[in-house]
Amino acid sequence: MMKKSLSILALSIGLLLPLSTFAKNNVVVVATGGTIAGAGANSTNSATYTAAKVPVDDLLNAVPQIQNLANVTGVQALQIASESITDKELISIARQINDLLKKPDINGVVITHGTDTLEETAFFLSLVVKSNKPIVLVGSMRPPSALSADGPLNLYSAVALAASDSAKGKGVMVLMNDSIFAARDVSKTINIHTNAFVSQWGALGMMVEGKPYWFRNVAKRFNAASEFNIEEIKGDSLPLVQIVYGSGNMVPDAYEAYAKAGAKAIIHAGTGNGSVAKYIVPTLTKLQNDGVQIIRSSRVPHGFILRNAEQPDDKYGWVVAHDLNPQKAKLLAALALTKTKDPAEIQRMFWEY
Ligand code: ASP
Repeated sequence: MMKKSLSILALSIGLLLPLSTFAKNNVVVVATGGTIAGAGANSTNSATYTAAKVPVDDLLNAVPQIQNLANVTGVQALQIASESITDKELISIARQINDLLKKPDINGVVITHGTDTLEETAFFLSLVVKSNKPIVLVGSMRPPSALSADGPLNLYSAVALAASDSAKGKGVMVLMNDSIFAARDVSKTINIHTNAFVSQWGALGMMVEGKPYWFRNVAKRFNAASEFNIEEIKGDSLPLVQIVYGSGNMVPDAYEAYAKAGAKAIIHAGTGNGSVAKYIVPTLTKLQNDGVQIIRSSRVPHGFILRNAEQPDDKYGWVVAHDLNPQKAKLLAALALTKTKDPAEIQRMFWEY
């Protein structure tokens, strides 16, 4: 009798609760290739393998536990090693993600990606995709064929993060090795270990057993608050921006060659605080006068560039990249150049993103 009334009570509670209490969120995994989809000759090949081999359905089927977290479907957007991504692929990924997230029944997306340029795609998406829904990039340092492959748990955590309501409004995130990073300041800093990704400002949070724990927020503009919009980008390329790496005993030829090749901006990945050798300064001031934007970044992974410190940026009309590393400065410069040629306006953008 007691048992019967308990089950009637449970049934009535069930009927009263809204359906959403039980409904799982819908997450799409957009696969682009990389080591997470790689294959080696045998299980001891953790570093010798071919990236971008395993199709998205196999990646999802290898981690059936993700279906307990969300209704997960897969899309094979690309099958590429991330070092070979050009503007064309970058823009196409951004358009696909933007379109997917416009659908009301999609709650979040995961993008599986090679780790080499994962930080670039993440930052680009954080600048141009108009959505508050979670966008999570994930990769792995070992291919699925290797012993202790890190991809399956990374994928599980990434799906859990994309399905999590608490991840809404956090913009584009990178999930690697249990840590949740912000797209703008995460960088690959180790090329072998599984703890390859680091942000000088720390992780946003951590994923443990499929649950996010949050510790900080980003102070800059991203996604819904960004002035850039993938829907306003025409064609499949961006204004050309190239990077020159600073060192001792340089020659000016690389800067000049890039300008000749049509670069609209050059990122000077300078020594220290983005410093420029005194014998290179005349080349850079000439290029700026010719309309090629000179943007001072640093080859040093931590810290940020101070305007008018190492060089009189106001006098030369140069821009400083703030704390963005050269490869991220390159993307923001390219987007900035779709809107303006004014260095003061470009500098504003570097402060704000
Ligand atoms: N070269 C590979 C890629 O970026 C490396 C990786 O995924 O870890 O596609």
